[in-house]
Amino acid sequence: MDSVLNAPLEHLVALSRAKPEEQADGPEPLVPAAEVLELLQQEVNRIQRSIRLTLQGKLQDLVGRSMGSVEHNRALAAAIQSMLDQHGFRIRCHQCGHPAILRLSPRKGIPTGAFVFDHTIDGRRTFHGGSATVPPIHLLAKPERKSRSQR
Ligand SMILES: [Zn+2]
Repeated sequence: MDSVLNAPLEHLVALSRAKPEEQADGPEPLVPAAEVLELLQQEVNRIQRSIRLTLQGKLQDLVGRSMGSVEHNRALAAAIQSMLDQHGFRIRCHQCGHPAILRLSPRKGIPTGAFVFDHTIDGRRTFHGGSATVPPIHLLAKPERKSRSQR
């Protein structure tokens, strides 16, 4: 049990959740710590949700717009994406619903470039969409890494 003190907090929480029936026997301190962390996580989630909704609302002003050139549209897509990255958000693909990155891609027939959804589906990088203007924006939380939640 002495190594527990050095364990990452996530591990600590998982540990105390995994063996609820042993809590009565052992020392108590793990439980309150886990509760503190859980409350903190809830608070962070709430703030994160608030940021997501605010950002999503503001970004609606850009929907349907084009900056008039490939260069400017690329800069716009990059600016939107970097803002989303900063807060750990992804944009929802209209075609398949997966979390995606917004990019501008050169496309025949669209001289100002096409806004596309860039994502990995079944292990393959895939592009969906392709509109001349900024598509409707629905934000999602960036998916968690598998190693975290599936242990
Ligand atoms: Zn898609």
